[in-house]
Amino acid sequence: SKVLVTGANGFLATHVVKAFLDRQYSVRGTVRSQEKGDHLHKLFSSHGNKFETVVVKDITQEGAFDEVIKDVDAVAHTASPFHFEADDPNELFIPAINGTKGILQSARKSTTIKRIVILSSTAAISNAPNPGKVYTEEDWNDVAIKAVEEHGKAASGDEKYSASKMRAEKAAWDWYNTNKASVEWDLTTINPPFIFGPTLHEVDKLENLNTSSQLWYEQVVKNTSNSPDLGKSVGSYVDVRDVALANVLAVEKEAAGGERILVPAAPFTWQDMINASRKVGPSIGLNNLPQGYTGYDASEVTYETVFSGEKLKGILGFKPIPLEDTVRDSLLDFKARG
Ligand code: NDP
Repeated sequence: SKVLVTGANGFLATHVVKAFLDRQYSVRGTVRSQEKGDHLHKLFSSHGNKFETVVVKDITQEGAFDEVIKDVDAVAHTASPFHFEADDPNELFIPAINGTKGILQSARKSTTIKRIVILSSTAAISNAPNPGKVYTEEDWNDVAIKAVEEHGKAASGDEKYSASKMRAEKAAWDWYNTNKASVEWDLTTINPPFIFGPTLHEVDKLENLNTSSQLWYEQVVKNTSNSPDLGKSVGSYVDVRDVALANVLAVEKEAAGGERILVPAAPFTWQDMINASRKVGPSIGLNNLPQGYTGYDASEVTYETVFSGEKLKGILGFKPIPLEDTVRDSLLDFKARG
């Protein structure tokens, strides 16, 4: 089988490409320029002609994916901006929404595609702390959209990003529900919380890490704070390798069709990450990692943004990688990158 992976050079997508190749799929990855594919070709050279890249310069153009989608059996659409620096929300909305609608539109006439998997986010479910609530796939994050409607450019970077993911996922389901009688494939969305873990994509220097890895690196490896705030609930996380596996299984599992699927490992505080890193550090030669807030007591934390892992377990059928493995492998990766 052949899969199309969009935005193949991203942090997550590089792992998605690897996961498909490891399971004997052929992969066609889209990148915005030929150079952005160079690192991938080196990384996956042992897979020979089972891996190729194609340039899709502008995913917002109508018909952008028409040619590259033609002969594939499945699609994993991950290309979407993820950063909190946007001034005008349209910087995020246009590629997120038009890219998503564009992939569905280009797949409209396909007779080979069985499933399209769209990488959404918990940001489309909820970002709002709600102690005691376990968010499920029934929930939709209207809060961020309202904030952007009300405040425009003055909304926070997080609100703008969340609204882009929410609107893109909504557009995907609206398109699918309107057109499903006339297409031969079905749709799945994967909704991960913060994605952490080792990087495989091209990172020229640590300052240019992708958004979520950058955050983890700063909060865990570079932390100079000892504030009790490190013990506050941040959100939930999942290992990047689990999200990659979820993409593969979402293509393979019949029951994933028509589903939104949350893929959380666990809720966390930065101090949880710091403590786990200090625990595994010495075994990999890292003895001086930051200690953060030493008065921390994990049993007193109220985790406020908790997501259900029922469908992850029930439909995709796997158990998330344990925290210590995510932390150890991230530390090893950052150590190797200097
Ligand atoms: P990266 O920034 O590492 O990768 C983003 C990918 O999308 C890159 O290939 C990038 O291409 C492409 N892209 C960004 N903007 C555009 C655009 N305007 N037009 C075309 N392509 C674009 O981020 P991640 O790997 O972390 O994110 C991948 C997906 O996962 C996104 O959809 C994100 O929303 C989602 N996600 C991420 C989470 C996380 O914590 N990392 C959590 C939940 C969801 P280029 O390199 O050319 O810019």
